[in-house]
Amino acid sequence: MIYLDNAATTPLDKEAGEIYLNFASNDFFNPSAIYSKSINIFNEIEITKECIAKHLGTNFDNNIIFTASATEANNLAIRGAYRKNFGKMLFSIGEHPSVYNVAMELKKQGANIDFINLQPSGEIDYLDLENKLSNDVSFISVMFCSNETGAINDLKRISDLKNKYCPKAILHSDGVQAFGKLKINVEYFGIDLFTISAHKTFGPKGIGALYVKNKNIINPIIFGGGQEYNLRSGTENVPAILAFKKAILNVGNLKQNYKHVQECCDIFKKEINVTGCKINSSGSPYVLSLSFPGVNGETLVHMMESKNILISRGSACSSKKSGNRILEAMGLSKEDILGSIRISFSKNTTLEETRLAGQILSNCYTELKEKLK
Ligand code: PLP
Repeated sequence: MIYLDNAATTPLDKEAGEIYLNFASNDFFNPSAIYSKSINIFNEIEITKECIAKHLGTNFDNNIIFTASATEANNLAIRGAYRKNFGKMLFSIGEHPSVYNVAMELKKQGANIDFINLQPSGEIDYLDLENKLSNDVSFISVMFCSNETGAINDLKRISDLKNKYCPKAILHSDGVQAFGKLKINVEYFGIDLFTISAHKTFGPKGIGALYVKNKNIINPIIFGGGQEYNLRSGTENVPAILAFKKAILNVGNLKQNYKHVQECCDIFKKEINVTGCKINSSGSPYVLSLSFPGVNGETLVHMMESKNILISRGSACSSKKSGNRILEAMGLSKEDILGSIRISFSKNTTLEETRLAGQILSNCYTELKEKLK
């Protein structure tokens, strides 16, 4: 099998899997208990938070909150920050459903929500953002790297604009597709809240985290035993947290991985170039969005699957739905949206796999077009 859907999820790192099993069955203790075995686990969790903080470009200062997913971390960031007397909340229209649908829900409940347009490149339209900024804005959410197109938003530019027009506004960024792939520096970026997920970078599913610069800016959305500084109650998912740490340590050198993935992406583009397909992506080489005019992307995904190559229609959450809010906002035609697919690489994708998959995709497209003539 050739797996090119790494933006949906990645396999668990082998050593991380061993750690997971150990902390699920041998060292299974509750980190809140007061005997030494539990205190050891609590300390291991703290060390994991230090490791995450370092990879976010900051120091650990009780500023990492574990959640059961990035979806939950995004909910905590947005719903946790929302107050009754909030001003306008601005969201990029290109956000993952775990941000977009929270915004839509708050809108239903009467919040003042507005969306920032995208440029054809998939990045936000900075001019549109600037036009929508005023001292009435309380919250801004713009993802770092798009799960649909790989487009990278300039977070420093966004925080500079925020500081110019509404310095008190809270700035949130969904960093799920960037963590373990792109260099992150929440301090330099000027970010207040940053979301990550373990399973996009060889960690286990069901564990996410939210970086919180200042814990006073959010309230809990889940109540209970007061874990995670009272901001996310529930016994910590110890096996997943400690496996996440191992996965982070095993990611290796970000620059080298990036260079390798860039090479994969370039090879893939070269192989499919002959077909006349359109490249919708620019930004991170980890995600490549393509449009094959005249065919249905879903059919291509199934044809590729029959050849044992797994690619995607778009984000895993939207791949079963027709239409695509993000590609639409980038100005793609209906035909290009219908014919769109997503290829996503990882540090473990080989150049040979990439070349072969590119050639097979080209053949599938040609075959499909012939059939439809
Ligand atoms: N945000 C982005 C950009 C994603 O790509 C995903 C996963 O597809 C999520 C959030 C949700 O992550 P999780 O599966 O941990 O809830």
